[in-house]
Amino acid sequence: MKEIVLASGNAGKLAEFRAMLSDYRVISPKDMKIVLDVEETSDTFYDNALIKARALYELCGKPAIADDSGLCVDALGGDPGVFSARYSGGSDADNIDKLLAELSGVKKRTAHFECCIVYYDGNDIISATGKAYGYITQERVGNGGFGYDPVFFSDDLQKTFGQASEAEKNAVSHRARALQALKDSLLLG
Ligand code: IMP
Repeated sequence: MKEIVLASGNAGKLAEFRAMLSDYRVISPKDMKIVLDVEETSDTFYDNALIKARALYELCGKPAIADDSGLCVDALGGDPGVFSARYSGGSDADNIDKLLAELSGVKKRTAHFECCIVYYDGNDIISATGKAYGYITQERVGNGGFGYDPVFFSDDLQKTFGQASEAEKNAVSHRARALQALKDSLLLG
């Protein structure tokens, strides 16, 4: 079975990638006894994912995949975008508080989550993007998931990601859609 290294130590992400890319043995940097320490310095999801995939390939010489994702809010010109994790400089809860404050009094609250995944094997670069559309609620609804999930009302699910089960979210999420698209491209490639 072909091996592919995922630029993440997150157990949940690893499980999701393993389930989707079942034709590959998906391993982590930790399995390779390497530490990936790269700054996500770009202003696009694609470039950030590519920076990580390239760095990982250079370190271990195996086909590598990396993802970058975030929340893009139309009324904020696409922010927090690539800054989603660091939006407030504090915790996930602080990020949500800042977002709700920025959108206070704003009627048009449409938003989408975006995820870009890049595969790099020293030769080919294959990328795929997935999006999940919805809007930002006035307050937190549900407390499942992570990040901005409690304030993202999903068009697909007709409830917030914070109210959704893991399986429901995985059926429509930006990450799952990007992963499916990447899988399709890898099988074609
Ligand atoms: P990363 O690409 O996994 O590092 O995610 C970047 C940031 O985007 C996270 O820290 C969250 O703030 C936000 N984010 C990405 N995907 C999701 C999601 O599925 N739910 C909630 N927040 C997310």
